[in-house]
Amino acid sequence: MTEKIGYNIKQVMQRLERAAQVSGRRASDVTLVAVTKMVDSDAARACLTYGVNDLGENRVQEFTRKFPAIPEARWHLIGRLQTNKVKEVVGKVCLIHSLDRWNLAEEIDRRYRQADLMAPVLLQVNISGEQQKAGIAPDDVEAFLDSVGQLKALKLKGLMTIAPQTENSEETRPIFRELCHLKNELALRRFENVEMEFLSMGMSQDFDIAIEEGANMVRVGSAIFSAAD
Ligand SMILES: *Cc1c(COP(=O)(O)O)cnc(C)c1O
Repeated sequence: MTEKIGYNIKQVMQRLERAAQVSGRRASDVTLVAVTKMVDSDAARACLTYGVNDLGENRVQEFTRKFPAIPEARWHLIGRLQTNKVKEVVGKVCLIHSLDRWNLAEEIDRRYRQADLMAPVLLQVNISGEQQKAGIAPDDVEAFLDSVGQLKALKLKGLMTIAPQTENSEETRPIFRELCHLKNELALRRFENVEMEFLSMGMSQDFDIAIEEGANMVRVGSAIFSAAD
């Protein structure tokens, strides 16, 4: 099991490195987040053995189960976050990728202020406009960033998107390109509590395309763990 994960990670790193080169960067400029939602703690821990220290979970319940087993990892929360679950991740995650609405921003701010901590978050943007997808519409992002300055415990560190599932992963390229363009535009402006450092986009089927289009953080699950448990 562990050997298979090691092999898969090597393959993923090769794809990552090639894509980074295409975009004039190095592999070390891109953070690989191993998404552990489909595997147990032992498989998740194996990633650290192979040099992948960033682990991602999409559900708080699963995160809460795995965190005590691997507290030394850098944990990312990547899925939809209910406001009543925010208190369970305070101080435990290095980045919340899925800030997708104002009342969640307020609750994150409130809970982190209580703990006297800063909350590192990414704003999730719904580029494709799919109705069932979470995220702020691109046109509303600027107004959201204008308001984030009111929430003193929030540190907004970039943008995230989940591209639609497609047969041909090339179809997602324009979506990645658009989010990168938005990030670059916003990076030229000054917003309080905002620093456009990360662009989290790309999953197993399309992370190389996302990197070519500017992603510096990719969330990869099945390409690392499939046939490994
Ligand atoms: C599951 C998940 C991923 C990883 O998906 P794979 O296709 O398995 O690589 C990435 N991002 C989010 C938000 C997810 O829920």
